[in-house]
Amino acid sequence: MKPRVYIETFGCQMNVADTERAATGLRQNGYDLCDSEHDADVVLLNTCSVREKAEQKVLTRLGEIRAASNKGRKLVVGVMGCVAQLEGESIFRQSSRVDLVVGTRATDRLSTLIERARTGEDRVLDLDERGADDSWDVSPVERHSPHVAFIPIIEGCNKFCSFCIVPYSRGRERSRAASEIIAEVKRLQNLGYKEVHLIGQNVNSYRPRLEDGLEGFAGATPFSRLLRAVAATRMPRIKFTTSFPRDFHPDIVSAIEENENLCDWIHLPVQSGSDHILKLMRRGHTRANYLERIDRIKSSTRQLALTSDVIVGFPGETEADFRETLSLVEACSYDGLYLFKYSKRRGTPAAEFEDTVPEAEKTARFLELETAQRKQQDKVYRAYIGRTVSVLAERQSSRSESDLMGHSTCHKVVNFAGDNSLEGELINVRITETKTNSLYGTLVNQH
Ligand code: SAM
Repeated sequence: MKPRVYIETFGCQMNVADTERAATGLRQNGYDLCDSEHDADVVLLNTCSVREKAEQKVLTRLGEIRAASNKGRKLVVGVMGCVAQLEGESIFRQSSRVDLVVGTRATDRLSTLIERARTGEDRVLDLDERGADDSWDVSPVERHSPHVAFIPIIEGCNKFCSFCIVPYSRGRERSRAASEIIAEVKRLQNLGYKEVHLIGQNVNSYRPRLEDGLEGFAGATPFSRLLRAVAATRMPRIKFTTSFPRDFHPDIVSAIEENENLCDWIHLPVQSGSDHILKLMRRGHTRANYLERIDRIKSSTRQLALTSDVIVGFPGETEADFRETLSLVEACSYDGLYLFKYSKRRGTPAAEFEDTVPEAEKTARFLELETAQRKQQDKVYRAYIGRTVSVLAERQSSRSESDLMGHSTCHKVVNFAGDNSLEGELINVRITETKTNSLYGTLVNQH
């Protein structure tokens, strides 16, 4: 029987994509994948280090896995992803149960590394760079959905925001060749996929070494040219995330306006509304030039949904700074907001700043902003009542067996009554109700 590997994924879409790629390589090298640590010979935790809580979860899970593996079977346990890259060898000291530590650029070497651990080598470690001919292949069976596919277009980050660990955990930006991305989109289209997400820490910083695949596509930046090139494949839906404000060129909005299959959703993390804090965060944008970009998005001929990330309680954030964030959030009328309390990350410049905001104050600011956003979002969502939106029916709803769940082109979760035969179809749904973070509606007769 083939050895079975269970991979548990934490964190962002890049980690989901890395797991898909790792699983593809493992199956090609004679492993089977399974859905639980209880059936596995090898357990891999694909980890996230963006906030302290995410890191703590890894240690908790390692403890649970240790308990499960004490039942007489030899289990190989590995840590991969961002925590592995950052903590390296020290993970072996933190948890004696770990046999294998695999950094963010070692995914292609996973099978060999596991083999070494399975044949008795102690403390197998690989934090090296990606090989020049590493594979980006993902087999359809390993994808997280049969209808929606993630396609990494750029890895790593060169921005060095003072709070953020990503440049250290994922290294410098590396863009994939456009020709490779386009070929992958076409392959997915032939397999019946209806939606692709072009993903990366900063997709709009896309800068491939060569022109391959972009010839014949105009645009002010390589990313807007890529958007036009991917749109030309006629994949029914194309979404992209995350965009970095400083590199957000208005030509991205023009590309969306020209191509119906580029979806109506932009995720543009602002982090703070105060210039004083933005400077300390080293974001490279000000409140005013962020708002200029928002003006272009809001004045588009398409109705574009806008989402963002905000950190509250950054070192030095005064009450007045926080009020500026609150007013910016109100001015932007976001369709959705991911809110975080500042979490100190060892090795980042901000870790050296004095943490001036007491925990209780961070919580109070978080709650105030959450309430303000909820109120506003309610308005945004209620405006959908009576409108018909195009929804990709993805799967049965987790709440009701008679409902299906999918996303609109503006990336809202939409639930509606429908049977399984509609799964994978693009259908029109008339919105009748709103929930906190989703819409509910009824199928519109397609004929
Ligand atoms: N590259 C994107 C950008 O900077 O615009 C997002 C990258 S990050 C993986 C996702 C979000 O996590 C960030 O936008 C930020 O709001 C949050 N985040 C990152 N570092 C954090 C920290 N030290 N404490 C709290 N939140 C953090």
